[in-house]
Amino acid sequence: MNSIITSPVLNDFTHAFTTRLGGVSNPPYDSFNFAIKWGDEKSAVCSNYSILADLLHTKAPIYTSQQVHGNSIYQIRVDDTLESVQNIQADALICYHPDALVGVCTADCVPILIGVSGFAVAAVHAGWRGTLNKITMRTIERLLLDGCRPLDIRVAMGPSICLNCLEIGEEVASLFEVDFKNCVRRDVGIAKPHLDLKQCLMMQLQALSIQPEQVDINLACTCCQKERFFSYRRSGSQTGQHLSCIGWH
Ligand SMILES: [Zn+2]
Repeated sequence: MNSIITSPVLNDFTHAFTTRLGGVSNPPYDSFNFAIKWGDEKSAVCSNYSILADLLHTKAPIYTSQQVHGNSIYQIRVDDTLESVQNIQADALICYHPDALVGVCTADCVPILIGVSGFAVAAVHAGWRGTLNKITMRTIERLLLDGCRPLDIRVAMGPSICLNCLEIGEEVASLFEVDFKNCVRRDVGIAKPHLDLKQCLMMQLQALSIQPEQVDINLACTCCQKERFFSYRRSGSQTGQHLSCIGWH
């Protein structure tokens, strides 16, 4: 079963972008759901974490934070507990030690996994607000400040909502048109503007001199592919969330 998706640029790392397949949650969270905030049973989500850990052959803790569409980054410390980090508001997690995985939950937003061999891993949650707030750029800038070399960075973007499905309001469109004019589409015959979020993110990576060969983009759309993915745009909060996580080998 295709429960998880991996990226060729992250072959050196234990990592996964989950799909909705292969878990134990009941509808409408069926079945590989990693969030309890929309009403799923905690025990089902815990079982899903165990299933994922088995698939990844890891016993290391998988840290997630309270995601708020902001641009705060949290660095995992050796003595952090899973519960303490879950209460921290952050949309990016960085880990510099090899005994943990960091993850983000999404259901349309872009999950971004970053690996720097022998140095660090990071997981970023980038919706449109986070992208405007430069959460991905800030995370990479932090890694660079801490001494990693730009050429050693690998970035994988997981399944998220596509251009055709991501309709936005005029107000949001005008915010994006300041720096991302080509990412906002106003095609003839379509009432509202649409946004190519992954293209915005790619532009941000290029601004930091991350080369295209260092980046892998999974183009699967969470909203189009109902059988494979959860989608907030399609289902509202009557759905689950994916987990995207990464750790050192
Ligand atoms: Zn789509």
